[in-house]
Parts: sequence; structure tokens; C-alpha cells
Amino acid sequence: MTVLASSYDVVCIGGAMTGTAAAYFLSENPDFDGSVLVVEPDWTYDYANTTRAQNSIREQYTNPLNIQLSRFGAEFIAHFHERVQVNGQSPEINFRGTGYMFIAEDEAAYRRLEEESVEQLAMGAEVEMLRPGQIAERYPYMDVDQFVGARVGGLREGSFDGWAFFQGMRQRALHNHVTYVKDRVIEIDLDGGRVTGVRLESGARVGCGFAINAAGCRAREVAAMIDLDLPIEPRARTSFMFDCRTPIDYVVPLTVTPAGVHFRREQNHFMCGAVPTSDVAIDASDFEIRHDEFEELIWPTVAKYVPQFDQIGIVTSWGGQYDYNTLDHNLILGPGSEVENFFFANGFSGHGLQQGPGVGRGLSELITYGAFRSIDLTPLSYTRIERNEPFLESAVI
Ligand SMILES: Cc1cc2nc3c(=O)[nH]c(=O)nc-3n(C[C@H](O)[C@H](O)[C@H](O)COP(=O)(O)OP(=O)(O)OC[C@H]3O[C@@H](n4cnc5c(N)ncnc54)[C@H](O)[C@@H]3O)c2cc1C
Repeated sequence: MTVLASSYDVVCIGGAMTGTAAAYFLSENPDFDGSVLVVEPDWTYDYANTTRAQNSIREQYTNPLNIQLSRFGAEFIAHFHERVQVNGQSPEINFRGTGYMFIAEDEAAYRRLEEESVEQLAMGAEVEMLRPGQIAERYPYMDVDQFVGARVGGLREGSFDGWAFFQGMRQRALHNHVTYVKDRVIEIDLDGGRVTGVRLESGARVGCGFAINAAGCRAREVAAMIDLDLPIEPRARTSFMFDCRTPIDYVVPLTVTPAGVHFRREQNHFMCGAVPTSDVAIDASDFEIRHDEFEELIWPTVAKYVPQFDQIGIVTSWGGQYDYNTLDHNLILGPGSEVENFFFANGFSGHGLQQGPGVGRGLSELITYGAFRSIDLTPLSYTRIERNEPFLESAVI
């Protein structure tokens, strides 16, 4: 059993990717000499979206801040071994650089992708616009009569072992003396407009200097403990893994179709998912697999672009949830105006693994220096919610 101190400088509410990234970066920051407690009820992480993700990273966003966050994620992945090793050991995250491919079905969509690529290139992302002839040469398995072109990313985009990625950071945080306790925050104490401590399901009370809401799809419940409203709701996202009868011996980028269906290779299989036709709020405990999505939407779509996908069989499938920010589908980061020492890190939708390192570093800077230093993440603050001013990003999958 973990023996708790009476108080910690920082308490992370939730210990999956986001809570762990914050704890990791705080504990790695030489200017931070405080203590960190991570409260997490489920040490199997079975129902954390961190373990239900599709484990990919891209640079192709339309907002420069998202590009910067992912570029830092890519850099972190490139140096993962040095950054997380404990006694010379670190887990293998097996990054496969394949790029992402965004398909344009008509000229207007092609021009839009091309316009977006100007900003992406200016931000240092590797992207190129390809026409069907070039696509047929590089990816001969595609039916290029189905579209007018695509934007394709470079090899810093790709996929990795998300569990190893998360565990590597967690092991290093533990090594750095971060405390993890198996418990759940059920109440938050406020005094004079500041969080003073958290109350746990076990009955313990722990004082704190800062609290970080890293509760994923339960972030709204946690914010409600101090009477703050957070426009985050769980949205169902089912993942399917399938087998293709005829092998495809070429690189398969993570391909995003105009219908919101995406697929990529996962070792000998293919992984896919979609934005459901009816995308509505669900209960945070609902991890049901939406089988109809595969039959009605995903299979016809992937077979349209890759004729070999006409002959496929499902290998496995699992339910997951996006912590969906209903204002603008993007991350909410940092304090609200009312409670200065309660920090949000919520609303990632499908980007929380790749943004984890950038967000963890940002939170560590906010807490240690009172301001962001590496990337100014202020535009992602909770105050935009209060002002009802959306953060614009159109490349949300
Ligand atoms: C189908 C799918 C595909 C995805 N694909 C990608 C991808 O390719 N690339 C990418 O970057 N991201 C992807 N994501 C997104 C990514 O998985 C999430 O953004 C990220 O894992 C969020 O991490 P988190 O720690 O914020 O939340 P979670 O992983 O959901 O963890 C929240 C934690 O908070 C804990 N908690 C809840 N309430 C409390 C409480 N009261 N007290 C204490 N603890 C509490 C929970 O037990 C849980 O462990 C995908 C997500 C899904 C669903």
C-alpha cells in the first residue's frame, strides 16, 4: 500500500498519458524541486483511452500550435530511449514512419489541402501534394480513379507502440520519485478561490499546491467538483483490425478519406476507424463496439480506395472514446480565470498521445515558472471557453 504524505506540491487527477506526461516533465525539470502525486484508480488502464488508441502521430494540422505540439511529440519519440531510460533500459516503442495521406475527392478539396500545406511547410512539416499518377507509382495498390490527388506527409509521421510509450514515461516518473496511488478523487477542497486539497475514495485527504485535471472522458465530472463547467463529453470511437486476403507489399500511410474513415497498416494486419455517422455524447462507461460501422461505413469506403480490401476479415475490434470538446474539438490547457491553481488538460479527441509530451512540458513550465517557455500554448486556455472563442483547427480526424 502506498503511504501518502499529508500534502504534495502537485496532484494529477488521472494517471494515464496526460497525468503521467505532466508528472514526468515536472520530475525531469531541474528547476522544479517539488513533490508530485498521481491519483489513478485503475492500474490496468483498461478503460483509459490511452490504451484504446490507434497510436499514430502526424504533422498535418492546420493550426500552427498543433503542428508545434506534434513536432515536439515526434522529437520526443526520436529520442525516446535517452529520455525515459531507467538503469540503461527503456521499452521499445517500435516507431514506423509511413506518413499520413489525406485524400481529395474533387479539385476544391485538393486546393484546400494545398493551401493548408503552405503553413505546414512554413512550420517545418514535411508534406507534399501528389496527383493520381504519382500516387499510383508510389502506392500501386490504390484505385487512383477514385480521387483527384492527396497530401502526403513525411516519415516523421507514423505509428508506434502506445502502451510502451506511456509505460516508458511512467517508469521514469516513478524512478524520479513521483508517487502513484491507486485511488480516485471524489472531492476537491477550495479555500479563498484556490484548491487546497483533494479527497480520495479511500477516505484520505491530501493537500496540494496545484491540481491537474487529467481525467480524460471524466474531466467534466472532476471540474464539476469545483463548480466549473467543462464542455467535454465522451464520443464513441470503435477501432477494427482486419486481415487482407492478398498481401500488400508496399508502404501504407495512415490514409484519411473524405468520409472520415481512416486506415493504416499494423504489422500483418490493418487498423481502421471512422467518425460515426451519428456522433453524439455517450456515457463515460460505454465502451461498446459499434459493429454496424464496419459493415455500413468502413468496409465500403476502404474497398473503394483499395480494391484488395474487398476481401477482408475482422481480426479484432474494441470500443474507445474521444474526450470531445464541443466548442472546437481541441485541447483545453491551463487554469481557468476563477481557480488559478486548478489546471485543465482535457479535450484531446484523437491527439492525446502525440500531444502528451508537449502538454506535459507545458504544464511543467506553467507550474515551475508561471508561464509557458518552449511553446506558447496560451491560445488553448480555458478562458477561450469562457469567451466562447473557438480555437481553429480543421484537420481533426
Ligand atoms: C479510438 C481512438 C484512437 C486514438 N488514436 C490516437 C492516435 O492515433 N494518436 C494520438 O495521439 N491519440 C490518439 N487517441 C487519443 C488518445 O488516446 C487520448 O487523447 C489520450 O490517451 C488521452 O489521455 P488522458 O490521460 O488524457 O485520458 P485517459 O487515457 O482516458 O485517462 C484518464 C484517466 O483518468 C482516470 N480518472 C478518471 N476519473 C478520475 C478521478 N476522479 N480520480 C482519479 N483518476 C481519474 C481514469 O481512470 C483514466 O486512467 C485515440 C483515442 C481513441 C479513443
